[in-house]
This record gives sequence, C-alpha cells and structure tokens, in this order.
Amino acid sequence: MSDRLTRTLSTQSGQPNPRITAKLCPGNRKGCDIGYAPAISSCEGANSSSCLPGKMRLLRRPSPQLSRFSGMHRQAFVHSSHGHVLLCTTFDGYKFNAPAFTQDSVQQINRDFQDGAIAVKIWKTFGMEIKDSNGKYVLPDDPKLKPIYEDIAQHDKTLLTHLAEPDLAWEPLDVKKDPLAQYYLENPQWHMLNKPGVPSKKAILEARDRVLEQNPKLRVVGVHLASMEKDLDALGQRLDKYPNFAVDTAARMEYLMYGDPEKVRAFLMKYQDRVIYGTDLDVNPDADVQKSVKEWKETYANDWRFFATDETFQVEGHAVHGVKLPKDILQKVYRTNAQHWIRGLP
Ligand SMILES: [Zn+2]
Repeated sequence: MSDRLTRTLSTQSGQPNPRITAKLCPGNRKGCDIGYAPAISSCEGANSSSCLPGKMRLLRRPSPQLSRFSGMHRQAFVHSSHGHVLLCTTFDGYKFNAPAFTQDSVQQINRDFQDGAIAVKIWKTFGMEIKDSNGKYVLPDDPKLKPIYEDIAQHDKTLLTHLAEPDLAWEPLDVKKDPLAQYYLENPQWHMLNKPGVPSKKAILEARDRVLEQNPKLRVVGVHLASMEKDLDALGQRLDKYPNFAVDTAARMEYLMYGDPEKVRAFLMKYQDRVIYGTDLDVNPDADVQKSVKEWKETYANDWRFFATDETFQVEGHAVHGVKLPKDILQKVYRTNAQHWIRGLP
C-alpha cells in the first residue's frame, strides 16, 4: 500500500497551510500506479485483487526485474483485467552506463508497444539517483535519452514523467513539523539534502522543460501535478509555454483540496483540456483487499465531491470546499483528457 502521510505545507508567503495529506510513491523498489478514468461501479462486489477500477495502471518501474509484477506475465495480467488495465512500460535507467543503453531501451520499448503498451514512464531516478560513469547525476534531458523520446513520439505514444519530488526532499526533515518527513526518513535514497552533486529540484524541472521544448511532437503527461503541486501559477506558465504538456492529479489531490478553492477552480477552468484525474491507488499482493477497496471508494468519492459539488466536507480532518466544475469539464478531467493525451485508452 502506498504511504499516506500527513504533511504541513507552507504557502508561497511562508504562512503555514493546513496540514495536508500527500500520497507518495512507495519505497525504493516499487514505482507508482496511476489510475485514470475510474469506474467506481466496477469495484462493486469485488473480492480479489482483480478489482482495479483504474482504466490504466503502471505495471512496471524502471528496472523490470524489480517490478512488483516480476514472476507474473504482464500480458496475462493485462488480459485478466477485462479491460481495466493497460500497460505503461518503462526502460531500465539503471543500465544507463551500458554502451548499448539507448539502443536496447528503444528496442525494448518498441517490443512493449507491439505487445500493447500505450505509454512510457520515466521515473524520478533520473535527476535523483542514476549517475553517469563520471559519477554525475543524469538529468532527464541527457542526450542519451533523446532517441528514446523521439521513438515514443514516432509511435504516437505518450511519455509519463514522474520527475522530482515534493520540495521537502531537498529540505531538512522534522516529523513534528511535517509528517511527510517520515517518508524520507524511511526512504533516505530520495532525501537529497546534503548529498554531494545532487541536482536541485529546480534543475530537474528545468531539464524536463528542455525535453518538452526539444520534443514538441512528444505528448508528455507530468504525473503528480508535474511535481509543481504547490505553485499552480508556475504550473500554468509551463502549460502555456508547452502545448505538448498535460498533468495528472495522482496522489496530489490534497494539494488542490486544501488550496484556495477559487484559485484552484480558476486553474481547472483555464486548463480544462490539460488536467487528467489520477489516483496512484494500488493493491499489493499482501494487502487487505477489502480494506483497499474501502480506501479506493473513499478516495474516489471525496475526489468526486471536490470536483463536482460545492459542498463543504471533511477530508482527513480538514474542511474542503468543492469547486463544482461544469459537467463538460468533469467529463474532460475524468475521461476525455486521458483519452486525448494517452492514445489507446478506451
Ligand atoms: Zn509517481
């Protein structure tokens, strides 16, 4: 199960926001799942891990052999989902220094496309973990990755980017001040403060922006609000600048819920074609499935209440005011934007 942590945010003015709950990708040897276009009713009566309301789940993380699905044939899993799961593949960044890294990655991705993969994910390992043969951190705009991006665009597929992390990954940790610190205490490989040579979050996001700039025909979805969850103005500027860029809300809904409702609504109205609802909900093999299903339903219900109503309600002890988006925009955020940005989604 993903970590669900309560955190305290600071606004741009430095004033503390209400405590906020953020779900981060699980630990160091698993990637994150991203559910799109959920159909809650498909979960009714489910009694096994076949209950997967998200129409799309990420099945792999950067190292295939470390995948949570190792031992299970991916295609068999996708097939057994009865249309609820599609494959977003990835490539093995840990092989970056192998002489044939680029060529091998392209070949593997193309095999996965042939097997039905509809997107490719690049993970935060680029910028935060993987180093070149000189010991320098590899940024997402490294020239060795460009043929991979070009290949994805040529196949009319989509690149999903989970690059960088919440700001705290570069800041001192104090669990009392910010419970999200617990995640980085448990996953110190993602806590970048005082690590020699580590790129700043800004540098990673700027490298991502160069990927957008250099690959205008590549559709890119920045997952987790593109790691710019605390600054919708800056995110909007990126969306204005790069027409090939969209974002999803996976595991960052609370940042929207606890923000200024009028500002969040204005953002969603303005960028109604660029925001995709996502969740990051998952079920691990050792999970209590009934408990997971309950959590999934609660999450879907709260998220819907926020987007679709003007009700005031409680989430994790915080008052949330719904933004009541018009019906046609709900349709975009919940379904058609995902279909547009990630071709192949039913
Ligand atoms: Zn993620």
